[in-house]
Amino acid sequence: MHKKLFIPGPVEIHPDILSAMATPMIGHRMKEYAELHGRVTSRLQKLMLTDDPVFLATSSAFGVMEGAIRNLVGTRCANFCNGAFSDKWHDVTLRCGKQADAIRFDWGRPVTPDAVETALATGRYDSMTMIHNETSTGVMSPLAEIAEVMKKFPEVMFIVDTVSSMSALRIPVAELGIDSCIFGVQKAFALPPGLTIFSASEKALKRAETMAGRGYYFDYVEFAVNDAKHNTPSTPCISQIYAMDTQLDRIFAEGLENRWARHLDLAEYIRNWVTSHGFELFPEPSYCSQTLTCSRNSRGIDLEGLKKKLADVGFAFDDGYGKIKGHTFRIAHMGDMTRADLDGLLNAITTIMPELA
Ligand SMILES: *Cc1c(COP(=O)(O)O)cnc(C)c1O
Repeated sequence: MHKKLFIPGPVEIHPDILSAMATPMIGHRMKEYAELHGRVTSRLQKLMLTDDPVFLATSSAFGVMEGAIRNLVGTRCANFCNGAFSDKWHDVTLRCGKQADAIRFDWGRPVTPDAVETALATGRYDSMTMIHNETSTGVMSPLAEIAEVMKKFPEVMFIVDTVSSMSALRIPVAELGIDSCIFGVQKAFALPPGLTIFSASEKALKRAETMAGRGYYFDYVEFAVNDAKHNTPSTPCISQIYAMDTQLDRIFAEGLENRWARHLDLAEYIRNWVTSHGFELFPEPSYCSQTLTCSRNSRGIDLEGLKKKLADVGFAFDDGYGKIKGHTFRIAHMGDMTRADLDGLLNAITTIMPELA
């Protein structure tokens, strides 16, 4: 039996997307590919609200997150860490042989504009990384306020992971001045995993050109040269790009504003459910994610038992990530999710919970 995915990635895939994945293959140096590539990247620019080139990489998000480090970090990087994925990005930075410091926040708290300002004002850094929506803790950091601070440090590369937020709310990449905005597609975009999207500002491409050891597979300059011909440096995951093409049709048919409103509605709906069922939200309330809700296990229920019983009735449920596993649970409400989908899960949870006590 297929278990319907309510975990924060990969998420449930619409049947139209699965059909698009079965489109007969084309060659990536054929004009059919160039047409597909051009159509997809120009619509991604529209969605990301930027004129910067947008590239298609065949890898999971961490491939490009590592690539960004190798292409954009020169002297020293400030890694802002407020959860498992941002912690890992710091580790990746060090493993690339770069000088870097982790600026840490307690889990459940956002990256703050003040901390960004304090760190960058030291003049030690030529680059910074942050995760807009920390999927491990369900915290969304105040990107617009941080972007304001970043405007005081125009020489610092502003590298942002929006894996679990892009398309679910307005993230105007150009207006925010993000130099490289990176997201895998298996979360907020509700596509099968394996494709990662990233933008590169002129400043980013200029920096990349000067970076020794930036490698080949994620070389920003290679991507730019190829993208100008609606192509990629090496063979891309064409089936996934067909899926993206179809998902962009669906996103623009729904309308961006409607999509943002739907996500906000779902987020409020689920937060209400959580707090009215004896649980507390894990994040600081004003920084709750719009695409997943992370709840404390305030009632001390057997989350592993719940997960098992939900699996028996066809739901994949998440009982926390990293060091807060078992103490929290997360419910994803991203991609194509509706209230009716969530009701299915919530009803199953309310039925099962008394059996666990
Ligand atoms: C899932 C996730 C990643 C890791 O993505 P992979 O595709 O597994 O490499 C990175 N950042 C965030 C915010 C995520 O949610």
